[in-house]
Amino acid sequence: VYPVNPNAAVVQSVPAYDTVETIPGPVDLAVIAVPADGVIPVAEQCARKGVRSLLVVSAGFAEIGASGLARQQALRSVCRRAGMRLIGPNCLGVINTDPRSPLNAIFAPSTAIAGPVGFASQSGALGLAAISEATSRGLGISSFVSMGNKADISGNDLLNYWETDPRTQLILLYLESFGNPRNFSRIARRLSRVKPIVAVKSGRSTSGARAAASHTGALVSGSDAVVDALFRQTGVIRTDTLAQLFDVATLLAFQPVPRGRRVGIVTNVGGPAILCADACEAGGLELPPLSNETRERLRAILPPEASVANPVDMLAQATADQFRQTVEIVGRDPDVDSLIALFIEPLAIGGSQVASALLDADEALEHGKPIMAVLMGCPNAQDLLSRGERRIPAFDFPESAAQALAKAARFGEWRAAPPQPAAEPPDVRRDEAAAIVAEALARGAGWLEPDEVSALLACYGLGMPRQRIVTDPEAVLSAAACLHRPIALKAQVPGLVHKSDLGAVRLGLAGPKAALSAARRMSTRLAAAGHEPTGYLLQEMAPSGTEMLVGVVHDPLFGPVVACGAGGVMVEVLKDVSVRIAPLTHADATEMIESLRSFPLLTGFRGAPPRDVAALENIVLRIGALAEDLPEIAEMDCNPVIVHEHGAVIVDARVRVQTAGPRPPLGAR
Ligand code: ADP
Ligand code: MG
Repeated sequence: VYPVNPNAAVVQSVPAYDTVETIPGPVDLAVIAVPADGVIPVAEQCARKGVRSLLVVSAGFAEIGASGLARQQALRSVCRRAGMRLIGPNCLGVINTDPRSPLNAIFAPSTAIAGPVGFASQSGALGLAAISEATSRGLGISSFVSMGNKADISGNDLLNYWETDPRTQLILLYLESFGNPRNFSRIARRLSRVKPIVAVKSGRSTSGARAAASHTGALVSGSDAVVDALFRQTGVIRTDTLAQLFDVATLLAFQPVPRGRRVGIVTNVGGPAILCADACEAGGLELPPLSNETRERLRAILPPEASVANPVDMLAQATADQFRQTVEIVGRDPDVDSLIALFIEPLAIGGSQVASALLDADEALEHGKPIMAVLMGCPNAQDLLSRGERRIPAFDFPESAAQALAKAARFGEWRAAPPQPAAEPPDVRRDEAAAIVAEALARGAGWLEPDEVSALLACYGLGMPRQRIVTDPEAVLSAAACLHRPIALKAQVPGLVHKSDLGAVRLGLAGPKAALSAARRMSTRLAAAGHEPTGYLLQEMAPSGTEMLVGVVHDPLFGPVVACGAGGVMVEVLKDVSVRIAPLTHADATEMIESLRSFPLLTGFRGAPPRDVAALENIVLRIGALAEDLPEIAEMDCNPVIVHEHGAVIVDARVRVQTAGPRPPLGAR
């Protein structure tokens, strides 16, 4: 370590240099903590010196606004020109616990214990608090990085590093923003298969609430649902709170990933076991009934008043040995994937005896099933539950154990499912679709004409009912004669978003004559209200069915985002929508639909016939492919998609195009 300070001959008894250039030997890493306006000159000195990497603690960069951003860009150029890598600026440093090259370059008196966790934090101060939390939970760190403004080294770079770092087995992220989520998605998808990633992302909106004219835009833009989708699609375990981040981390660091959702609960107190069971079920876990064999074995060792159902309540008089035997017996039940042991200290035995019994059981089982413990009222539970390398994670409350387990089990399921490629719907005419979009863009950004919309959808195998468009209401008569009855009539009014709001939609018209008189009335009424229609769309009526919405929003950072939800005119009221980032897999489409609150409407609700969910899935996948292929599609609404017993049809679609921005955005990493 060479202190560099122009005003001092020694720093903490170590001789100091007045610039980095006067240091005699080579320098690998420069930690820069000078006032903001001094950073660039110092970085230039480092470049001349041949320093390999910079860690810039100084603040006063992009986080303060335009002037700081310019300074940050200048700093990055200095680094790029010299081939130096940069962490920060505005960060609190790094820790590496590798015994071969231990490094503590943290701007605080923090130390970490060595272990399997790679940890990156976008907030420096929070990262430091997190290190001490990790230490108190016995959770060791392989490396910690406070990323600061991520001018060069980003979370994505760190994921790439941890992927090949044998000391890192589990990754924790505290994120506030994404630089390049598409890149994150690629790396995380691959890495999560081998090393679990647990992330907490503060709930700020992703791209700010932008004015959106479509239903999909209103539902999705700036919503946290896109971040959720990114994590879900990449296997990243998202936690809601920091406490949960560490709960999940201790579980995964100390115990195997659960193979399924079935939990066995063993307790010496009834109340907390009920809370735990409720939290398990709320998190999607199951409490299977134990097998007859398991129950008989339990009966043989427990008093008759004990409950041998799941949860197993051994009652307050349970001994440490009964704890051990019970955990072993339940752990051997083939219907149980994981175990939670709950203990409240009665008079008879102490937490340390129970902890030791649980460790014995864990050792005896060696079953690859996670065991978790809640020793309520034992302040040093995690210490008691540690014996050398063997550790059972300690949780403060039954609910926190259940929630952590639920997250880990969902991850286990994701990981067990073979990775799926993006769906590539057959018979797509991509070039023709691109030409339609290009032609529309030649007029300028904006909404496509109805005939362009139906032609575009047709290129992706997405049918609409047969339709005719006329400009003069008198032409409705002959146009309607070409269509099967009954007929829907829709007036086109420039700038009108939802036609039915203005009475510009008439349904179920019996034939051409009815259509003509409806068009005449509509024309007069709309003109009187100042909304002169520019055209009339005549469309064959689709049979009734369940009305759904499928849409797209092109997020400037995340790329095309596909939404599926309850459709019709109540969309904004119901706000029942699920979201995935394109490209979509078959599993994505299935999950999107099945996770909707209104899913039961598709499966035969109250005697209604079950709807063709596969047809809806097909539409979701085809629209996903359309959005992925054509980044010029800024917004798209298919509302409603009417789902029938057999098949599904889009009866109303709107598409807005704009010149696609660069992808990924300039400067973001
Ligand atoms: P907007 O969304 O602009 O108000 P739509 O074209 O979606 O207008 O029509 C409003 C409603 O009318 C739809 O939600 C649907 O219930 C019904 N509808 C429209 N077109 C048809 C059609 N071709 N067949 C059956 N129902 C239709
Ligand atoms: Mg509509």
